[in-house]
Amino acid sequence: MANKRLSDLIESYYSSLLVQITTYTHYFSLKLPEINLKLFQIALLLFINFPLYAETTSEVDISITKSIENTWTLIYQMSRPANRLSFVRNPDNSRVERWKPISPDFEIVFEEGKEYLNKKDGSSFEHAELMLTPTYKHLSKDYAPFSPYSDSGVLIYTGRLFACIDMCTEDVNDWRVSMNIPLGEHLIVNGKVYTNSTNWVDRDDGMNIYVGRQKPIETDSVIAVIDSGLPEEIKLSLSADIPKLMVYFQERLGKLNGVKPTLFASYAKVDDRSSQGGTLPNQIFMHWNLNDLDAKVKDTKFINQTTWFFAHEVAHLYQRSKFGVLYGEPNQSWLHEGNADWLAALALLDLYPKTEEYITEKVGRFKKHCVDGLKELSLIEATNEGQFGLYYTCGLLIHRAIDHAVQKKSNGLKNIYSLWNEFRQKVEHGDEKGPETFLTLVEQYTSKELVIRIKKLVETKLSSPEDILNRLSIDQ
Ligand SMILES: [Zn+2]
Repeated sequence: MANKRLSDLIESYYSSLLVQITTYTHYFSLKLPEINLKLFQIALLLFINFPLYAETTSEVDISITKSIENTWTLIYQMSRPANRLSFVRNPDNSRVERWKPISPDFEIVFEEGKEYLNKKDGSSFEHAELMLTPTYKHLSKDYAPFSPYSDSGVLIYTGRLFACIDMCTEDVNDWRVSMNIPLGEHLIVNGKVYTNSTNWVDRDDGMNIYVGRQKPIETDSVIAVIDSGLPEEIKLSLSADIPKLMVYFQERLGKLNGVKPTLFASYAKVDDRSSQGGTLPNQIFMHWNLNDLDAKVKDTKFINQTTWFFAHEVAHLYQRSKFGVLYGEPNQSWLHEGNADWLAALALLDLYPKTEEYITEKVGRFKKHCVDGLKELSLIEATNEGQFGLYYTCGLLIHRAIDHAVQKKSNGLKNIYSLWNEFRQKVEHGDEKGPETFLTLVEQYTSKELVIRIKKLVETKLSSPEDILNRLSIDQ
């Protein structure tokens, strides 16, 4: 069965902040291309159904062993001989450096944008063993393979390991995964704790697995594995703000399906400036890979930005239907990224009224970023042009305009949440996910004129984006 990979997100922790700062300061503007590469969206399903390991067949079985010395061995066992193994995810060529075949007969090669594992003499094989490098590696447009905790625990991302005999197609979507860990440590898989070893059937985008000694804390809203080395301000925010935001969005968008989400927050105090966060089904995670977090948290703006980021990620958890995410292709990301940012703004204004000035300023900067960006290219081209940040900035403005128009037309009885809830219902009843269904509803909730303007803003390169942005908000 073809198992369509639906989509979700991973984004730089500073995504929105960087979008703002890049617009305004010379130093950060130099970093813009790099930042935009960090902003990304990928595919997944809401539910991971967990078929039984023993009853499932997979082309390639994956086995991971962590030793007490922190060596990570990866074994692939194929169901039939392979000429080579290909990988589902190919963000760059870093496996070539970071994955070491144990036998000198094997090599990892990078060809035409994809990595492959093969034997040097070209002969086929059914079994291969490699050593992994268990450090943080920022992957452009993908989840980090390892996110280390400061107490030597680590998150490992399984989607990185998914491999196929010869070639990956959408039909190959089940991997039997087993993991073995040293005595005294435990694994957290799908919210459950295991010692020694466990196995499961993994699929779609995979998931993050915790390996280490830290006990998860179960709260009403999440199972939390929060790095004890994080500054108190961040720990406090994670344990107080995330549940608060979940309640806030649950009241407006309904309860989450499936198991209680696990919140992973890891901190590697290293000389770097990289940080990342994202969501996978029933998982929300953040990793800070930098050494000045203690100083950063003294800055109110940084705290506001962190809360905004949390709100954005939590909002993503509520953007799914029973069957998976509601949004479409990467070049249509204004739909969910813009929505998540607008919902973040609404949540902060309601829950943390002192952030009003920060938000007003931020929306102003988003507008400038969007206007400047759309002079150069259309929004649907942004993903191919490394301008992913425009989905956040222009997207927020689109959703804000829709929200205001819905409220105006309904005399305050309906809002963006009513619209999103009906959008979810429609998709659950068989309508196509993505912007077409969403905009059909927008037309019903507001006006045909607004939808025409939104489409123009999304699909065409504009000589004066400011005019059309202004017209989103008036004449409704
Ligand atoms: Zn996002």
